[in-house]
Amino acid sequence: MNILFNKPPITGNEEKYTLQALKSQKLSGDGPFGQKCQAWFEKHLPCKKALLTPSGTAALELAALLIDIQPSDEVIMPSYTFASTANAFVLRGAQIVFVDIRPDTMNIDEQLIEAAITDKTRAIVAVHYAGVACEMDTIMEVANRYQLFVIEDAAQGMMSYYKGQALGTIGHMGAFSFHETKNYTSGGEGGLLIVNDEQFKERAEIIREKGTNRSQFFRGMVDKYQWVDVGSSYLLSELQAAFLWGQLERADEINTNRLASWRAYYSALQPLQAVGKVKLPTIPAACTHNAHMFYLKVAGLYERNVLLEHFKVKDILAVFHYVPLHTAAAGKRFGRFQGEDRYTTMESERLIRLPMWYGLPKDDQAYVISAIEEFYV
Ligand SMILES: *Cc1c(COP(=O)(O)O)cnc(C)c1O
Repeated sequence: MNILFNKPPITGNEEKYTLQALKSQKLSGDGPFGQKCQAWFEKHLPCKKALLTPSGTAALELAALLIDIQPSDEVIMPSYTFASTANAFVLRGAQIVFVDIRPDTMNIDEQLIEAAITDKTRAIVAVHYAGVACEMDTIMEVANRYQLFVIEDAAQGMMSYYKGQALGTIGHMGAFSFHETKNYTSGGEGGLLIVNDEQFKERAEIIREKGTNRSQFFRGMVDKYQWVDVGSSYLLSELQAAFLWGQLERADEINTNRLASWRAYYSALQPLQAVGKVKLPTIPAACTHNAHMFYLKVAGLYERNVLLEHFKVKDILAVFHYVPLHTAAAGKRFGRFQGEDRYTTMESERLIRLPMWYGLPKDDQAYVISAIEEFYV
């Protein structure tokens, strides 16, 4: 048996819609499929504006441009995240201030944010790791008190909720990814920016359209379009939007299937957690998650390497995750860690992600579970 770590979700209609887009001869962004997807998001992630982007990274860059990050501004985020979370702001000259995570969710420790705020702080980035929400009430309260922007990096958080609110709709803006490793994909690469604050609605369209008011022109609001602001090219191709539409139609089915796999892992591995061999993910009561990831934590780095070796022998592709950004070469150059690294490094070294994808066969999953049980007998 050879068990893949990830398989891009394909539900069946992607091919039909992509072909339909191809034949329509409307291939650039915001065509009929793009508009359908955006309308779907505006309904399911209640927001002021939903804009498809070429990637989650591009959505984060657009957010950084919208809040006008300037050189030497500081942005607070966890160190346990993907490089793009930081890069989007580093591209604008920001200094990154890394804060420790909570060991239970691997999310930023909301209690440590206030101590990291200086008079240069402009924004907090809440990364919802594994599609499990950060403690948003506390984060929004601190942000409001200091007048900071909150950008949700919800790249992994489509179809997840915090106290009934969809992730990405709580902060000033939310960024999602449709990379092939995420729960929904627009054909390999793609993303979405959710704008929740009215003040960014109009400018988001302009920056995304190369700094022009082209979107207003198409709506008949202006009689010619021209260069009005800074901007870049952040639209998603219509072919990719068509692909994504095939998945949005089946969004619940994908989610239900992933959650079933997640629960099967959890209940099978629970006995190993009960005897203290492994630690399984914690889902706080305020969160409804989307089964983006199933990870387990082992004793430490050494045990992780031995277990990964065991998986390799068994032809199971399981992988660890982020090297904390503050320990990486660029992280040292562009950021600093505020306070003590109590959990970030230690917890990241204990973590292994198990195969998890839409349609993961029960037999494959049983094989992975028995490989883990065999390791711990
Ligand atoms: C995937 C991911 C991104 C980047 O998304 P892309 O679509 O690959 O650019 C950013 N942040 C987090 C937390 C991610 O998981």
